[in-house]
Amino acid sequence: NKSIIFVKRPEDYPVAGEHFVLQHTQLAPHLEDGDILTRNLYLSLDPYLRGRMDGIEGAYVPCFYLGKPINGYGMGEVIQSKNPRFPVGSLVFGVITWEHFSLIPPAFNNLIILPAAVRNSKVPLSWYMGALGMTGLTAYGSLKLYGNLKPGETIFVSAAMGAVGHLVGQMAKRQGLRVIGSAGSDEKVKILLEELKFDAAFNYKSGKPIVESLREACPEGLDIYYDNVGGEHLEAALEVLKRHGRVVVSGMIDDYNRPVPYHIKNLVLIFQKRIKIEGFLCLDFEKELWPSFTEDVTKWLLDGDIICKEEITEGLENAHEAFAANLKGKNLGKGVVKIADL
Ligand code: NDP
Repeated sequence: NKSIIFVKRPEDYPVAGEHFVLQHTQLAPHLEDGDILTRNLYLSLDPYLRGRMDGIEGAYVPCFYLGKPINGYGMGEVIQSKNPRFPVGSLVFGVITWEHFSLIPPAFNNLIILPAAVRNSKVPLSWYMGALGMTGLTAYGSLKLYGNLKPGETIFVSAAMGAVGHLVGQMAKRQGLRVIGSAGSDEKVKILLEELKFDAAFNYKSGKPIVESLREACPEGLDIYYDNVGGEHLEAALEVLKRHGRVVVSGMIDDYNRPVPYHIKNLVLIFQKRIKIEGFLCLDFEKELWPSFTEDVTKWLLDGDIICKEEITEGLENAHEAFAANLKGKNLGKGVVKIADL
């Protein structure tokens, strides 16, 4: 077996080969009762994994321990089983280790078995890491439960070419909103405007203050800010939001790699403009929304209403490098690692 092992806590950006390394590992010679063995196919690269590297006990998700494999959302095929819930041949989705093969004991196997039809469906398996996985659920559920979207409103999405952002923008667009996105390169801005049909988009690394670019994109003000970033993006949005504007906070990636958190200004505007700010975790609505999410988003994708952009890296041995690069903005859409064919 080969595994990506976490070996050192990063102070800022993680580096492949320094903080996590590829190692040969031994699988246990046989399974205990309740265990399953998966042959892993895909990994989902998600920014929250960076927070788990900080080693904070009691955080909202368990931290990583030194010397153990990284784990996160992924897909595998059950190839041995001593657990009647998971027959050999099942395709499973959920938290797996970053290894070619994962031995998953009963305490950790709260995996979802994907329907057998998935094997022969028109939907590529990799989409279960993105638009049809935790990322898509995040976009779908947060807009449905907290967005309170109304046609004609203006929404601003940060990290708009990221996994969550590009789906949020397209979902808001299909509900009749005016959608503005920010991203870290001209190439990303071009895709947002030309392929994903955002109404406006800007490169926040162009040198111009974010607040100026945002004002130019919506001189009439913002109704909703969908925050993936925090930091200067949140400051700018607070300035440009209308009175009674809303902020849906999905995450604050600007802070994840900083040794010292960014000091956000403009918070006084929250009460002055009666702004409503709401954060969430997709786990909060996973059970409630999974069936309608799967049905709706599969249809939207197959009808071409929304597009799933993905950046697929081949090979487990490149997973940690790809994860580190995506934190710096390499990915155009959802970052996925393909470990093996089905
Ligand atoms: P991705 O890895 O797909 O994309 C993140 C993008 O953020 C990067 O590609 C980069 O693109 C941009 N970025 C990185 N650093 C900064 C920065 N300092 N300022 C502005 N942009 C930056 O991430 P996801 O789309 O999966 O996640 C987006 C956010 O949603 C994250 O904060 C994540 O933690 C959160 N999240 C929350 C969930 C929840 O349940 N609440 C579930 C899933 C995700 P660029 O080139 O534009 O800089």
